[in-house]
Amino acid sequence: MNDEMSFSPKSAWKLYRNEAQKKTVFAFAERYRQFLGRCKTERETVLYVADMLREHGFSEDPAAAKTFRVLRDKAIFVAKKGDRPLEEGLSLIAAHADSPRLDFKQRPLIEQADVAQAKTHYYGGIRKYQWLSRPLALHGVIIRENGERIDVCVGEKPGEPVFCVADLLPHLAQKQSEQTVKEAFEGEKLNVILGHTLAVTEEEKEEDKEPVKQALLKILHAKYGICEEDLITAELEVVPAGPAQYVGFDKGLIGGYGHDDRICVFTALEAFLESSDEGPAKALVFWDKEEIGSDGATGASSRFLQYCIEDIVRAWEPQTPASHVLLASRALSSDVTAAIDPDFQDLHEKQNSAHLGHGPCFCKFTGSRGKYGASEADAEFFASLRGLFNKNNIPWQVAELGKVDTGGGGTVALFLAAWGMQVIDLGPALLSMHSPFELASCADVYATKEAYRVFLS
Ligand code: MN
Ligand code: MN
Repeated sequence: MNDEMSFSPKSAWKLYRNEAQKKTVFAFAERYRQFLGRCKTERETVLYVADMLREHGFSEDPAAAKTFRVLRDKAIFVAKKGDRPLEEGLSLIAAHADSPRLDFKQRPLIEQADVAQAKTHYYGGIRKYQWLSRPLALHGVIIRENGERIDVCVGEKPGEPVFCVADLLPHLAQKQSEQTVKEAFEGEKLNVILGHTLAVTEEEKEEDKEPVKQALLKILHAKYGICEEDLITAELEVVPAGPAQYVGFDKGLIGGYGHDDRICVFTALEAFLESSDEGPAKALVFWDKEEIGSDGATGASSRFLQYCIEDIVRAWEPQTPASHVLLASRALSSDVTAAIDPDFQDLHEKQNSAHLGHGPCFCKFTGSRGKYGASEADAEFFASLRGLFNKNNIPWQVAELGKVDTGGGGTVALFLAAWGMQVIDLGPALLSMHSPFELASCADVYATKEAYRVFLS
């Protein structure tokens, strides 16, 4: 119990104030920063996790005591047996590996005014103007008719070209500056510049055969051996280019693309790999499609998690019904939340909002406007986690997403709750969430990993 009668959350930096602790925090943050710069799509993230698991002795055999299963390179389930009966349930952490971005349309290539562009359809909740006039990279896969996969990643290595959506100059933006943000920035104008040279003959140019687009197709054919039709079935994602970077003289923050929700993927995976082989069975699930409502085979509303749990129950403890294991499980829905924005504080109800650097944040319920569409954790589960964190000196805080009737949002919690398991949201707070350069506190990165480690152990 707290010594003080009143409660106030404390900055995790107060906890990590001696040199040795600071060194540990920053060393962990540095490993996270490198991961974030490297894994920018759900596929890259899931394949990174699978590689880490193989390195740590996990196999794809569901009967093994350390097992994992990948679904279509976009979702992954991981489990470790422990020494307690499965009928006592799993300790499970769920996060998502997809982030908002611009996806190539099926027939992306166009040529306008001497540039070749890719038409895009944005994925998830973006503020469109944030994607203009900034270096972008292209990540994804192209699948040939024979099933052969071509991995694409351009715009990340030094010396490689990047891509860009152009923006209007202020001189011509008179009318636009008087429009609402919604009117001013159109989805159909999020066209990514891919090329500009004319590599075709003068003869073809005169015939008006889109010479810049033709030149681009020639380059794509030389580089990847593909033609325009191959783009139709490809999955190409346009994401902010470059590594994640420290922000501030003190390097107290990490700025980068996709903290939401790869910060939870990384911290949960690290906590899982550090956790002991004793105690209850432990599991992780990293889903795709959270940013567009969790539908689809690789999203949280699919049966993937249930099938994986049925497989391990059949292998480890066949006499126990899988439904009992699901119902007895304890889960963290690990996702980020909004930190109080220093310049927009009026949008937050401050007593129930997250502070940057105050440790991972519990959200007892999600949903909006009268808790509509919410999964709500029960008081017993929430209190047990509070006790666990206090006992282990883990900084934590609590928040709702924005003011009543103003904010709100969803996570994967309700999909876990549908199986009857105890579940609560717990994850770090961000500034500039869903932007191409989200900000997270180094102290929160470390504190979140510690919270997940204690929960799993
Ligand atoms: Mn999220
Ligand atoms: Mn999100």
